[in-house]
Amino acid sequence: MKPTHAPVAAPRPSACPGLWRIVAAADGGICRVKLPGGQLSAEQAEAVAEAAERYGSGVIEATNRANLQIRGIGAQHAALIDHLLGAGLGPREAAGDDVRNLMLSPLAGVDPASVVDVRPLAGQILHLLETTPALHALSAKFALQLDGGEDLAMLAHPHDLWLSALTLEQRPWLAFGLAGCPGHDAPLGAVPLAQGLALVHAVLERFLALASPEQSRMRQLLQDCSTQVFIDGLGLTLRRDAAVCGWRRAPATSAWLGLLAQRDGMALGVAPPLGRLTPAMLRGAAQQARLAGDGSLRLTPWQSLVLPNLDPQRRVPVQAALAHLGLIDQVQHPLARVAACTGANGCARGLADTKRDARVVAALLHRGAPASVHLTGCPRSCALAHVAPATLLARAPGRYDLYLRDARLPGFGSLRACDLTPEEAGAMLDLPTEHLDD
Ligand code: SF4
Repeated sequence: MKPTHAPVAAPRPSACPGLWRIVAAADGGICRVKLPGGQLSAEQAEAVAEAAERYGSGVIEATNRANLQIRGIGAQHAALIDHLLGAGLGPREAAGDDVRNLMLSPLAGVDPASVVDVRPLAGQILHLLETTPALHALSAKFALQLDGGEDLAMLAHPHDLWLSALTLEQRPWLAFGLAGCPGHDAPLGAVPLAQGLALVHAVLERFLALASPEQSRMRQLLQDCSTQVFIDGLGLTLRRDAAVCGWRRAPATSAWLGLLAQRDGMALGVAPPLGRLTPAMLRGAAQQARLAGDGSLRLTPWQSLVLPNLDPQRRVPVQAALAHLGLIDQVQHPLARVAACTGANGCARGLADTKRDARVVAALLHRGAPASVHLTGCPRSCALAHVAPATLLARAPGRYDLYLRDARLPGFGSLRACDLTPEEAGAMLDLPTEHLDD
């Protein structure tokens, strides 16, 4: 279906950027381009690169929900939006932009470990979200995950509703959970794959029927309403026997950078340093996807790109071209082990220039040390949706408190050191300890 080009009256109030809601930040406007299942064609990538140059500062961010953001946008909002809609980067219905929050695994459909190709169901769910007016009352942050059992999968990001494929009696089913993630939580029940859309619809309608105006997320509702009461009212027959409730999602073991296993071909994962793409990087990746693959790209929750369906014979020149653009293809690379939010350079809440300080920390992390470090300018933790093994929380320009993840503690974990410079933090973190395994 063609995107809706008709202007909308006004975006509804929210702090989240969207295609029509260009949110002001210290470095200009931010426009978020939501990608269906993280998928992007080479032509669309080029359109985003052009938009970032023409209407923004040239900074393009890969988000931790597999979307893109254009930063530093000036006054030409209408022209930018038209440009993006013309490239097919809008929703089916303008009012549906905020709610099309469905995350898939980067190699959905081609990951050799997957139980099922979830892309057809994902298309149905996105269609439901975008074209059902009643569902547009959901918060712009309300998010779903559809996991097909892939080996390259982010299983630690909490979602309001998660679905995960499993096989029971040689048939595909979907286990599901609320306000959590398949990597940590036991399923509440399961339905046959063919009932996946009905389950999603029932959960969303039930949430909207029960939630108060202050309860925009599932975890908030479940503080007042038990999960039992919630699922009892879904009006669906759920399988809740030991085979389902005792099932646990197998850990995902695939690295997210470098050569990635896929059915029929080869995929390559690359990351821009600290999640920021230049227009040249995005254009270059699009060119390689066209030359050596099927002209498609996928964004990932690790703020990186995947080029799927590549010709294995072209591996060496593609890797060389992407490296030449400054894209990282090794998880051991120090900059691949550091995440940082926008920080004081572009966000009024930021207490420190996290992007700059992250480079200082990364330069002190030697290859081989297992640390994975998150620098955040304030407790909102925009760069990561899960808790990193080590978090540096800014307290002043160039000063951080260090937390180490501890499953027994809420938030960032246990406070290990206060008021560190990036140099002091980098030296402390360049230690292979069992606490820092990611
Ligand atoms: S974590 Fe805080 S400082 Fe960093 S981008 Fe988000 S709101 Fe801004």
